[in-house]
Amino acid sequence: MIVRKSPEEIEKVAAAGQILVRCLAMLKGKARPGISTGALDQAAERFIRSQGAEPAFKGYHGFPGSICASPNSMIVHGIPGPYELRRGDVLSLDVGVVLDGWVADAAVTVAVGPISAVAAKLLEVTRGALFDAVELCRPDNHLGDVSHAVQARVERAGFSVVRALVGHGVGRAMHEDPQIPNFGEPGSGPVLREGMVFAIEPMVNVGTDPIRMGEDSWAVYSQDGSLAAHFEHTVAVTADGPRILTPWHAEEARRAA
Ligand code: MG
Repeated sequence: MIVRKSPEEIEKVAAAGQILVRCLAMLKGKARPGISTGALDQAAERFIRSQGAEPAFKGYHGFPGSICASPNSMIVHGIPGPYELRRGDVLSLDVGVVLDGWVADAAVTVAVGPISAVAAKLLEVTRGALFDAVELCRPDNHLGDVSHAVQARVERAGFSVVRALVGHGVGRAMHEDPQIPNFGEPGSGPVLREGMVFAIEPMVNVGTDPIRMGEDSWAVYSQDGSLAAHFEHTVAVTADGPRILTPWHAEEARRAA
């Protein structure tokens, strides 16, 4: 069952989202060669708690970190630790924030120094696929339209969507119904209604789609060892169209200006 949120409840998720956006901006500034993912995790936890909020991932099914930090062929769910970033890495930074019992969830993949042309294309395509999908989060569209939008852009570029992992509803809990695959048929699945809130998260491999699990039973890698990227927004379906509740792209644009 997809639980719809009132406008007041959506504002609560947006408030958590504002903290998340500032946390991601801080992490992006720190993601330079030589810093460990564990140090990024500590900085994120400190920041989130300083805002009177909590890191949503910490302790989730026993997850030890406050963020997920997933470099290169690791797609998602990386436990932060001693790994030190290197020039040319791509790093998925995934953050969840709980404020007053409401959850926001978002991720970006960042380039550490100059990256290869294929890595740059992977980031551009995965980010673009996210925004294609967000654009379709409107009343009376189908969930399959959203899923298909991701798949279409990714496959046009010659990359693969990761089929084993999905986006999700979000709000009171970090993972609510529905599951949101990154592939699907237009016109299929549930009809979108005002008040639905989704975490949409394209996960894309340069190579083939299959995954393998890491030895820690958390990290998920591309099975073929190819580079992977991951971008995520929490977005509300409103009468006026999609409303992004984790606007890290606006923060990026401000910094670029
Ligand atoms: Mg998520």
